[in-house]
Amino acid sequence: MRWPAIAKALTLAGLAATAAGAVPARAAPEDKAAPAATAPATEAGAAVATDARLAGDKARTRFVVDLDRSVDIAVFALADPYRVIVDVPQIEFRMPPGSGEEGKGLVSAFRYGTFAPGRSRIVLDATGPVAIDKSFVLPPIEGQPARLVVDLVETSRPRFLAAEAEYLANLKRSGNALAKADRPPVAAVDTDTNKPVVVIDPGHGGIDSGTVGVAGSIEKVVVLEFGRVLKAALEKTGAYRVLMTRDDDTFVALGDRVKFARDNHAALFVSIHADSLSDDDFRGATVYTVGDKPSDDEAAALAEKENRADIVAGLAMEDAEGDVADILFELTERETRVFSVGFARNLVGELKSAIKLVHNPHRSAGLRVLRAPDVPSVLVELGYLSNVQDEKLMATPEWRERTATAIVEAIGGFFSRRVAQAPD
Ligand SMILES: [Zn+2]
Repeated sequence: MRWPAIAKALTLAGLAATAAGAVPARAAPEDKAAPAATAPATEAGAAVATDARLAGDKARTRFVVDLDRSVDIAVFALADPYRVIVDVPQIEFRMPPGSGEEGKGLVSAFRYGTFAPGRSRIVLDATGPVAIDKSFVLPPIEGQPARLVVDLVETSRPRFLAAEAEYLANLKRSGNALAKADRPPVAAVDTDTNKPVVVIDPGHGGIDSGTVGVAGSIEKVVVLEFGRVLKAALEKTGAYRVLMTRDDDTFVALGDRVKFARDNHAALFVSIHADSLSDDDFRGATVYTVGDKPSDDEAAALAEKENRADIVAGLAMEDAEGDVADILFELTERETRVFSVGFARNLVGELKSAIKLVHNPHRSAGLRVLRAPDVPSVLVELGYLSNVQDEKLMATPEWRERTATAIVEAIGGFFSRRVAQAPD
């Protein structure tokens, strides 16, 4: 199980934006006769998915989702790794626990969740090159739920790649960025306050759950909750304008996180994660900065894992690379790295007296989310969700408060030094 499929009940905040984006269900006249109990209306009117299953074999595999009503779908496939993406309007997933963890036929696993405001996504991991033979939605009839059906058949890699290229070309031509999440407009920079902007970046979100703890905590939830505590602690100082790349259970592409920091003229970017390892004894926090070469094997493995976030959510790599391609200012970048490393060392110093850290707690790797050329950036792995003790601690208000306080201290030190060192 590489990417566990975890559906989180959609928050009301997440649904607030659906009114405009959600595609209204094509209400069949029979619906009126259907007993209300079989199709409970959700507050924002999202369709409800109650079950999903796979049938068939290695030659032909059918994927079926039960829904309370018809929805519009868009289905396409991407390579490396092979995966099939089903885009749908906002759906509330009320699937049985464990749905998607086991594969069958041409599908090794599937996952689902929010992709962008008003939109959900299902991603099927394929065992090899597949072709989408058919995809359709059957309306509900005589007490039977609506059925979303995708039929996959085996194909060759060249054929798969040809279909993918055609899909991406169409996408570009139509200007319809189906493969990219629609982000709400970036918050306007408050030019009145002369406060430096600190961007907190809770990792993962929506369809990308991140890692899952031994006792079942989900990384995307843990890091969002901690991000909110850190935001409050920073705001209490009155010294910063604090923004978050996400404040609900929404997927944000790695490049969009970087762009958010740059567009808001961030003076510092702090990404928050919680890792997991097969060795469940391993525990403690780690601070990462970007580096061309990973500092060690673990750092390399971590970067590989965290950089997959976009793939997990079914983004085409083309989209994912776009925002960091304009790294022209090498000088700025080099200077930025010096500041990032300075802050990371400072941060390790503060965290050391507050919480348990790993051996060699400052590490570096090619983390894509830290690639803003002009924003000093670090990524904090709060601890290991694979360790019982770490997982428990990360959920306590006391631990969160201590850790946030240490980070606030380090940020205070970073800015006082920056001001002191400013050339004019
Ligand atoms: Zn992570």
